[in-house]
Amino acid sequence: MSDSDAEWMVAEVCRLYDTKGDKAVFAAKNGQVIQYRDFCVVIGTSDTYVVDEDFCTCGDFMYRGLQCWHILAYRTAKALGTIVQRDEWYQDLI
Ligand SMILES: [Zn+2]
Repeated sequence: MSDSDAEWMVAEVCRLYDTKGDKAVFAAKNGQVIQYRDFCVVIGTSDTYVVDEDFCTCGDFMYRGLQCWHILAYRTAKALGTIVQRDEWYQDLI
């Protein structure tokens, strides 16, 4: 993905998801999306969640079936190339 595509995607995320989009982009740009050896996580406001392309461990997603901002943050960080790589096992930290 080129830089302009990534910028376009960020603009779209903000436009389509409003507050959630803003949160997602902020997290993606501030190193809150972290790829460990085993899992990828997003550091949220009150907790840290394991995320994937279309999966998240937060309550909104698991119990209310909502598109949450964590997944958006993951996708945005992936597009921007801002996922922080950690050479550790997330399982060891929890
Ligand atoms: Zn979530």
